[in-house]
Amino acid sequence: MWRVRSEVATLPDWELSGEPNAKIRLDRNENPFDLPHGLKRELFSELFKIPLNRYPPAFPADIEAKIAGNLGLSPENILLANGSDELIGLTLKLFEGDHVVVSPPTFGMYPFFAAVEGLKVVSVPLDENFELGDIEAHADGARAVFICSPNNPTGNVQPRERIIEVLETGAPVVLDEAYVEFSRGSNADLVNDYDNLVVLRTFSKAFGLAGLRVGYAVASEDTMRQLRKLRPPFSVNSLSLRAVDYMLDHLDYVRKIIRYIVMERERLYGSLRPHAYPSEANFLLVKLDAYEFLLERGIAVKKLSGRLKGHVRITVGRKEENDALLEALEEFLERTG
Ligand code: PMP
Repeated sequence: MWRVRSEVATLPDWELSGEPNAKIRLDRNENPFDLPHGLKRELFSELFKIPLNRYPPAFPADIEAKIAGNLGLSPENILLANGSDELIGLTLKLFEGDHVVVSPPTFGMYPFFAAVEGLKVVSVPLDENFELGDIEAHADGARAVFICSPNNPTGNVQPRERIIEVLETGAPVVLDEAYVEFSRGSNADLVNDYDNLVVLRTFSKAFGLAGLRVGYAVASEDTMRQLRKLRPPFSVNSLSLRAVDYMLDHLDYVRKIIRYIVMERERLYGSLRPHAYPSEANFLLVKLDAYEFLLERGIAVKKLSGRLKGHVRITVGRKEENDALLEALEEFLERTG
């Protein structure tokens, strides 16, 4: 008689479509810009040449070398994967330990993958300034301590010294830097000093390739040698690999988009100030219970719950989308006093 594992039976049913019919989508922390037509046409003519009957390279050393070069690291420090989501799952297969430590409110995929692995989740909530609590108390025997910086959904970064303190416990630390390109800077260089660190990055946010599903891990050469064994050999497809390579050759364009988003973020923050928290990501945490009000006006944002009940997370959009958002929120504030 077959039976589904109890871990699987209790997993949530994903409903990730969000609000696809909303006119303005500020709910999924996506980049508001698809590639401009000229660049997209050029990329697609490159993709046209790719033989689809052939498997992609298992470990595309040339692309990993380009990424490494940008970070001042070596190709042996980099592993591409099918979105950073895939890497969250893989890092939980890498180390020994019987529980994971998470710091809510934070990204929901950490407890999800922990549940898939049948691991206990220890929650050490962020403090009132959204800084890390006493993680050290639970570091012993942890399979992974997750630190998200900038944190989704609060937008703040954790100080480098604090990350180092956690690394010093010797526990495996997974530092999720999905939004780091919008922040003051990365801590990926710490892999030079700590074998217990795996940093996760993605092409879904600053690079605007969420639809192509590519992320990468950064770790010391020793740690990466082990992590590399765990990833299925062809998990990143040929088209996605070529697109990533193309974007890495167009970093000026990527930097321009990042500057635009950061400027718009600061403009939104200035306008929403008593209600918005400062952010180093491409979204803002806003203390306004405005989800339904905005949705009725065609604007989708993310409604938060639990400790952040009454808050919304608003992704920075294009200027005209942000203008529409500000106008709607002005009306919301007039109505609610
Ligand atoms: N980490 C964080 C903190 C995220 O918010 C997201 C995307 N929402 C991811 C990882 C997943 O990114 P990817 O598209 O690379 O799987």
